[in-house]
Amino acid sequence: MNDDLKALIRTIPDFPKPGIQFRDITTLLLDPRGLAAVVERMAALVDGPVDLVAGIEARGFLFAAALAVPLSAGCLLIRKDGKLPGATIAEDYALEYGQDRIAMHADACAPGARVLLVDDLIATGGTAAAAVRLLRKAGATVTQAQFVIDLPDLGGAHRLRADGLRVDTLVSFEGH
Ligand code: AMP
Repeated sequence: MNDDLKALIRTIPDFPKPGIQFRDITTLLLDPRGLAAVVERMAALVDGPVDLVAGIEARGFLFAAALAVPLSAGCLLIRKDGKLPGATIAEDYALEYGQDRIAMHADACAPGARVLLVDDLIATGGTAAAAVRLLRKAGATVTQAQFVIDLPDLGGAHRLRADGLRVDTLVSFEGH
């Protein structure tokens, strides 16, 4: 399933640090048919009406914006803290060492807005879980998340599903 897309994703070993197999979607983005297929297949998996597609910085923005167009939805940006110009709300999350913070504009979504969360890849799910908490804090209704790539051994998709979300991914890679 989606082997055509998997073949377009390049793996760079030991980036950004030793032991990480970096799943590089720039090669998928360069391929016109691959890019169109990702958007079509993600759109086909959307369950119910969506008001906004939320993308996580930075690669999530690309897929969120492209998917928002056929869904006739808007695109909401979830950024690293300190990058958005307006008043923001933020959410902290744990990293392997230390912690990080993501933010969104406080007025980006109306109460009850139906938001689909999108990123390029889910690993431990820490980033996506923080994004869901942030969106819900802003009043959004979040019931579904989509990722181009799943790293199932790291358990992130499982974690979000256990939290009641519908999670769809197109391609999965074993290991880290
Ligand atoms: P996590 O919070 O552990 O689910 O990490 C997800 C975020 O880290 C996503 O925004 C990914 O773009 C990035 N990421 C994590 N692991 C990888 C990897 N092996 N290759 C490419 N990106 C990754």
